[in-house]
Amino acid sequence: MYLYNSATHKKEEFKTHIPGRVEMYTCGPTVYHFAHIGNLRSYIMEDVLEKYLRFAGYDVNRVMNITDVGHLSSDADTGEDKMLKGAKRENKTVMDIAKFYTDAFFDDCRKLNIKTPDVVQPATGCIDEYIKIISRLVDTGYAYLAGGNVYFDSSKLERYYIFNDHDEDDLAVGVREGVEEDSNKRNKNDFVLWFTKSKFEDQALKWDSPWGVGYPGWHIECSGISMKYNGEYLDLHCGGVDNAFPHHTNEIAQSESYLGHPWCPQWFHVHHLNDPAGKMSKSKGEFLTVSLLEEKGYDPLAYRWFCLQSHYRKTLVFSWENLDNAAAAYTKLLNRIAALKPEGDVDTAVFDEYRKKFLQQVGNDLNTSMAVTAVFDALKAKTGDATKLAVIGEFDKVLSMSLLEKAAALREKAAQAVQSGGGDYVITGEGDPEIDAKVLARYEAKKAKNFAEADRIRDELKAQGIEVTDVKGGAAWKRV
Ligand SMILES: [Zn+2]
Repeated sequence: MYLYNSATHKKEEFKTHIPGRVEMYTCGPTVYHFAHIGNLRSYIMEDVLEKYLRFAGYDVNRVMNITDVGHLSSDADTGEDKMLKGAKRENKTVMDIAKFYTDAFFDDCRKLNIKTPDVVQPATGCIDEYIKIISRLVDTGYAYLAGGNVYFDSSKLERYYIFNDHDEDDLAVGVREGVEEDSNKRNKNDFVLWFTKSKFEDQALKWDSPWGVGYPGWHIECSGISMKYNGEYLDLHCGGVDNAFPHHTNEIAQSESYLGHPWCPQWFHVHHLNDPAGKMSKSKGEFLTVSLLEEKGYDPLAYRWFCLQSHYRKTLVFSWENLDNAAAAYTKLLNRIAALKPEGDVDTAVFDEYRKKFLQQVGNDLNTSMAVTAVFDALKAKTGDATKLAVIGEFDKVLSMSLLEKAAALREKAAQAVQSGGGDYVITGEGDPEIDAKVLARYEAKKAKNFAEADRIRDELKAQGIEVTDVKGGAAWKRV
């Protein structure tokens, strides 16, 4: 596989410290609010990456943190504490907020077919690891105490701005917004490893430490959690592009200073989801969540499909119209798969050829739009339906669009509707499940107010010589 590496600014051949084994780390959510669909774009693409690596034969150990302490509203350790903000907003305890929004996050993931990482670790569960790392950093002179807090001394490093694709000012914009200067810092890029004296007197979660009762900074948690579960050599670190600076820069600084050797050679950053007005955020405009998509009648997987159609390193623009197009394309695809007959033998030579091509194409910097194209190519292949279904099922191990399950459900539903003579929508015809499935799909499209799709299916049926008549409680079709 070839992946763009943000640490070197180049597309490179993917390598691992131990051949065949991937130690992968993903920055998880800060659980003070629902995730918006822009946050979830990163988790979708990381999920595809993990599944692709497994598909390519790697043994993957994927670790993710849940930030339930220490993340301030500016990523550079200033502003309000996000968890406290959530607790105040809802008049609950920080732990209640953490539990509620952790569950909500995994609900969203489930709806989007995002696999839960092998290890999920809340930050509050690894305090001893952070203390161990910070203690050594203090002992070796990489960290200092000032005003009761422990800071990392960025001046001790030869190289600090590792992800500077752009200039420093550009990257620091998010950091500067509404920031008050912390006079304890010796250098502007120093960051907090451990807070004892801070303005958050009401901080609920505190632990004893060699520097006094307090709590960890945000950045240290990812280094601590990764080293605990991935070991000292991490192969691949993932996150949204806004994590690159200062969060990932700080993770590298503290991890390598602690370990005394390089820590993670490959960095994967997913770019923003914008709305037409600019970058999507929780505080601006309509708060787009998976629940909102569902309320508006969308299958959350239509959003996953929308994300897959574009490359992870390109900014993706969200609009309802764009989502409608993706939803219509997804429905159309499911109908085409439902029309395949799951009978006969699989041609293994064709299957292997398609699998090999998919592996190659998608392995070019996680080219998910090629993966989408590959499904349509499989549908057009000059081979039997059983082989097409097997190939599509194989691709779906990476895409996770529930293609075979949903198509089978459509097929089943059509067959049942015909047989039962009851139910909500009865199709009477000449007993051809393929046609029944299309007639039902037309009905579903109409019900979902997707009239373009309904018309398209009607035209397709017409081209096949099928005439559909809407009757009370269903539809009747005949060959003309
Ligand atoms: Zn992180």
